[in-house]
Amino acid sequence: MNNEQKPVVKTAVIGVGHLGQHHARIMASIKDVEVVCIVDEDKARADEIAEKNKLKAVYTIDDIPEEVEAVSIVTPTSSHHAITLKMLESGRDVLVEKPICLTVEQAEQMVNLADATDRILQVGHIERFNPAIISIKEQLDRPLFIESHRLSSPTPRVKDVGVVLDLMIHDIDLVCSLVGSPVEKMEAIGVNVLTDREDIANARLTFESGCIANLTASRVSQEGMRKIRLFQKDAYFSLNFMERNTQVFRKITDSESGKTSIVHEEAPLLEHDALGMELSSFIHCVRSRKKPIVGGEEGLLALQLALDITDYIQQHLSRMSL
Ligand code: NAD
Repeated sequence: MNNEQKPVVKTAVIGVGHLGQHHARIMASIKDVEVVCIVDEDKARADEIAEKNKLKAVYTIDDIPEEVEAVSIVTPTSSHHAITLKMLESGRDVLVEKPICLTVEQAEQMVNLADATDRILQVGHIERFNPAIISIKEQLDRPLFIESHRLSSPTPRVKDVGVVLDLMIHDIDLVCSLVGSPVEKMEAIGVNVLTDREDIANARLTFESGCIANLTASRVSQEGMRKIRLFQKDAYFSLNFMERNTQVFRKITDSESGKTSIVHEEAPLLEHDALGMELSSFIHCVRSRKKPIVGGEEGLLALQLALDITDYIQQHLSRMSL
């Protein structure tokens, strides 16, 4: 029997905190997927989420039953590397949340092990499954300038990374995939406000194609904002994920009169379940053995750039305080 015909994919969700609870719920709702167990080292949390979703709880990855063939890892970033290696070594396919891990060396090890063991390694860059982004990608033609804002209010949850690895990495991955050209130059600035890492950051990326992207992220804002605007020669796209709308301004030239005008289209953003699409896509890769839409290499690329931005911010700040 080949993987496409396999009736049920047996999975486990590791880490059922803020985000992992949704992985467990949605994974359990996917057709022909059995969540054999959820895993959380916080026993009370594991029991709570297991009871809510009528699933079995275990409290360490060593107790995951052998029959589990695919896992999603939704633990804090500092544990992604060790858990992923252990799961790949035991023959499981892995979806690991973003960022892939903390260092480039760790990420390379994860990617190499997935290759060597012929396992799927997907990274949870969820925005790639956003239908508004997918539709923009189809209409993009050599973007010249991209501006993104991802602002959120303070949360005590994320302690192991700064705002670049926590939030900006979504836009780093997204913008790199939309531009499809290597980054030639980068400048950045960041400030720590409530933690000992940067809580606000801005990065300006110049791509070899000539496109410039200006990315801003904050986790100490009063109000949330998730906005991306893209400019190309003949069109401007503005997507506001909080207000749920998308606007497109297009330059149209009349073929007879040669007259140029701007046409404005406004549409509501479609209701969508990006996490459901991401998890279903992972399960499809597990069955079909196809390469994931966001594989380990893409996760590594986004991490590399995010770490370069973080290093630039540190060096820039120390130069400024001399
Ligand atoms: P969280 O702290 O709310 O939850 C993490 C859970 O993992 C906790 O319940 C903790 O007890 C458990 N845990 C920790 N170590 C464990 C281990 N070794 N074995 C089993 N359980 C363990 O964190 P969160 O906000 O849910 O974030 C988890 C990950 O998801 C992070 O990497 C974060 O960057 C990512 N994340 C992604 C998005 C997105 O939009 N894709 C959004 C939020 C968080």
